[in-house]
Amino acid sequence: MLEFKDVSFKYDIDDYYMLKNLSFHINKGEFVSVIGPSGCGKSTIFRLICKLLERESGQILVDNQSIDQRKGYCGYMPQKDLLFPWRTVGENLKLPMQIQKTFTKEQMTEKVKSTLEKVGLSGLENKKPSELSGGMRQRAAFARTLLTGSDLLLLDEPFSALDFLTRISMQEWLLEQWEREHKTVLFITHDVEEALFLSGRVLVIEDLPIKKLVSFDVPCGYPRTRESLTKSEMLSLREQLIKMLRREANLI
Ligand code: ADP
Ligand code: MG
Repeated sequence: MLEFKDVSFKYDIDDYYMLKNLSFHINKGEFVSVIGPSGCGKSTIFRLICKLLERESGQILVDNQSIDQRKGYCGYMPQKDLLFPWRTVGENLKLPMQIQKTFTKEQMTEKVKSTLEKVGLSGLENKKPSELSGGMRQRAAFARTLLTGSDLLLLDEPFSALDFLTRISMQEWLLEQWEREHKTVLFITHDVEEALFLSGRVLVIEDLPIKKLVSFDVPCGYPRTRESLTKSEMLSLREQLIKMLRREANLI
């Protein structure tokens, strides 16, 4: 579904590389988390996938085709500035379709309505984002990401600003959405427990520049509950991952 082949990248103002000959791949339908301490380049990887940044060399493929000259191959939910505050929820959700220009007004209204229903926000299309709770705003932003119609979803620390209880409900909710929608999800987090709860595989950024992502299979099937996290295999992987991250945080 997604493949990096020897991708290198550096920011213009830096004299060091963020990514150096990075290769990895994600299979169709997988839920994969990328973890690493703050500032290690997680969001940079996402910005390269959705072409907000341009790589220096290497290839990025989605469905075996280069992303160059393509549009609409991924839905990106950024870390912050999720919804435009001056637009209603409905107008925010229409945005990806307005950009694509492939739907009539009536089709857009219908799609917004049915997607809001799916994410449990029926009837809220005329509210402003400021009138919603933090968890509801995240769901609305996720709904907008779904409305890009892409099979590849890039979610950048979507729950990091939420309080603990809202966050764990949103994690359960996201797994339900993923199981129903059959999308491929690449999920960034710095929270090891969140990565373990959600993903089939965890990719760890271990060194800088990023030359490889170390892949760990999560030793637990789906569906999952919070109790899955207390299995001894999960606990020992959690400790192993925390150790790796702490070592790396000391290097940054
Ligand atoms: P993460 O998402 O893992 O916290 P980022 O990918 O956002 O990290 O950033 C990685 C590094 O690149 C950080 O040190 C950050 O300061 C730097 N960085 C981010 N954006 C820019 C930019 N536009 N220009 C220069 N450096 C940047
Ligand atoms: Mg980030």
